[in-house]
Amino acid sequence: MIMKLVIATHNKDKFKELHLGLNDLNINLLSLYDYPEIDEIVEDGLTLEENALIKARAVYSITGIPSISDDTGLEVDALDGAPGIYTARYAGENCSYSDNINKMIREMKNIPDNKRSARFITYMAYVDKQVELTACGVVKGMIEKKIKSLGGFGYDPIFYINEYKKTFSEMSIEEKNSISHRGKAIKAIKAKLIEHLNLLKENA
Ligand code: IMP
Repeated sequence: MIMKLVIATHNKDKFKELHLGLNDLNINLLSLYDYPEIDEIVEDGLTLEENALIKARAVYSITGIPSISDDTGLEVDALDGAPGIYTARYAGENCSYSDNINKMIREMKNIPDNKRSARFITYMAYVDKQVELTACGVVKGMIEKKIKSLGGFGYDPIFYINEYKKTFSEMSIEEKNSISHRGKAIKAIKAKLIEHLNLLKENA
């Protein structure tokens, strides 16, 4: 029987990247659109890893189906690692992606080019009856002084990758996934998940 897995996010942009990264597993991928009764999950952990686990545990406990989630933070060196776990709410509760970008551009206005380094970190969590797995992915980049193109989501329009000489917003979703924080975290959790599923098969 093909296993089911719920991708535990209400964020349609993250869902697209997670779906693309996970769809080569021989698994039936479900989304929270399949569970409209599941509301926003309060992310009150102190770390990205805790928040990823909180979401995967909550969705597993409601659906009874193995669940996978991610939590992402942007750490900017010139801002002493902010916004970190507050990345989604950087410009305040219920702010938009462009509110966050505009605030970041304002706060970084006087920061010289050689001090604009930053990193995205994603923690992924997988929860089922037997195990809780987590994995992490990191990508380094620079914060642009202004928006380059409007593709992607979140801070993509101002997150520049030196090696590729473009921002995430200028990449296709496939290219972004091949180098991004989320792409690396997906790859790492997939390896752990495959090992776990193989062990389950051997012991069945
Ligand atoms: P979350 O807490 O994991 O939902 O993500 C926090 C925030 O980080 C999101 O609301 C986005 O603004 C931003 N974010 C997450 N992933 C990405 C990404 O891949 N590119 C740009 N921004 C991102």
